Amino acid sequence: MSTEKPSRPEDEFIHREETQEIIKTQAQKAKELAAQKRAHEKELHYMKCPKCGGDLVTELSHALEIDRCVDCSGVWLDDGELQKLVGEDPKMLQDIVDLFRQVGAAKLTSDT
Ligand SMILES: [Zn+2]
Repeated sequence: MSTEKPSRPEDEFIHREETQEIIKTQAQKAKELAAQKRAHEKELHYMKCPKCGGDLVTELSHALEIDRCVDCSGVWLDDGELQKLVGEDPKMLQDIVDLFRQVGAAKLTSDT
């Protein structure tokens, strides 16, 4: 594959085909690298606290699985879990606040 611009029309056609093939191959390689990078990042961050990097543990609370950080006690919900908690009942928001207070208080009690 030459990178110099050819002079004859048939050579020009071949040059164009080769260039398009190179671009296509490079695009495919970039796509594969991006997928590998994404998989690596997912592996590094899975079940890690987004706030402090501590390990997350899954706990069952109010029939819902919550992820709690063992280091900072941050509580994380998966997609759709907050919606499940709130549901149709606005009172649920207060229950959620109470739930987080209970988890925080339990953590403080276990630390002392
Ligand atoms: Zn944390």
